[in-house]
Amino acid sequence: MSENLFASLQAVLDQRTADGLSRQRRLLDSAQGAHVKVDGREVLSFCSNDYLGLANHPELIAALQEAAAKSGVGSGASHLITGHHRYHHELEQALAAFVGLPAALLFSTGYMANLAVITALMGRKDAIFADKLNHASLNDAAVLSRAELNRYPHNDLPALEHMLRTSQAIRKLVVADAVFSMDGDLASVPELLALCERHDAWLMLDDAHGFGVLGEKGRGTLSHFQVASKRIIYMATLGKAAGVSGAFVAGESVLIDYLMQNARTYIYTTATPPVLSASLLAALKIIEWEDSRREHLKQLINLLKSNLRLQRWQLMDSSTAIQPVIVGSNEEVLRLSEHLLTQGILVPAIRPPTVPKGSARLRISLSAAHSVDDVQRLITAVQSAEKAMAI
Ligand code: PMP
Repeated sequence: MSENLFASLQAVLDQRTADGLSRQRRLLDSAQGAHVKVDGREVLSFCSNDYLGLANHPELIAALQEAAAKSGVGSGASHLITGHHRYHHELEQALAAFVGLPAALLFSTGYMANLAVITALMGRKDAIFADKLNHASLNDAAVLSRAELNRYPHNDLPALEHMLRTSQAIRKLVVADAVFSMDGDLASVPELLALCERHDAWLMLDDAHGFGVLGEKGRGTLSHFQVASKRIIYMATLGKAAGVSGAFVAGESVLIDYLMQNARTYIYTTATPPVLSASLLAALKIIEWEDSRREHLKQLINLLKSNLRLQRWQLMDSSTAIQPVIVGSNEEVLRLSEHLLTQGILVPAIRPPTVPKGSARLRISLSAAHSVDDVQRLITAVQSAEKAMAI
């Protein structure tokens, strides 16, 4: 009988492969950086979200090693039992001050932080209004909360306003990626906030890709747009520009206290190793004081945008480190990614369901770790690939 169970799994896997949707893991044998060793070979990588080049920074490594000597490697328990170390505490305070909000709470991952906020705040009689291109974790959180989920077309404020106006829900939450992870464009934050004010809704922003990169000293998307409001719930991750791992939620103190008491992905899980927080304290100093990293990244973004000339494929209109090239077909984007790999360049092919059907793309992630030459090499390789693959 169990044969049937496995056969049904195999059938799904076979269909995925036939549709060009099967995913592969590559084996990494180096630290993150512009040049990495994957599957036994050195390549130039445009794959990671290490936007400031901190994932292998000597000061972060030293902070982690020093902390390990004092705190060991394991946290031993959840935050509410005995897992809340002074390093976690100092990091929470530093993060809240950095983003200019009263309080912050650390989570093990961005996925868990999003689950925490939405399931703790929202329930059956409530309604969530979510941008169609939001990260999967926000959608999963909405389903888990059992609130009504309304998805509005990407950045379509009139559609959102109509939904808010006609909603009978007790509590309303508007939620959006601040920087969209697969498109690289920004949410219209001031306009979203104005709608939330008008309809008395929370505004939750997922700044996974803006924190450390956008705004004054890398304070993130709120600083970029110069917006502030008590109704903003801010979430950012610490495994991207901050170079390590984890996430935090920041906002009014009562909100953070409420999450600490009610968020299940905070309460029922082991705290992250304190050494990660020690390393993140070092990362935060670099984020705050080394504007040169953001300036270099900006220069690389401009270089790519002004020099990559394509005929059939299309570079999306993004001003951030995420620079997607729309190819369309799953099969063609896979061939493109493989072709680039033969040239020693690794760029991921992103396909449905991560992006809408028919919009498969190459997701180029730029980093301050790249040089001008690295980006020039990528431009030449993508342009030649387009010509070579047209035949
Ligand atoms: N939100 C967004 C917009 C993301 O891109 C990601 C990570 N891809 C997450 C949340 C989840 O963060 P983490 O990887 O820390 O779980």
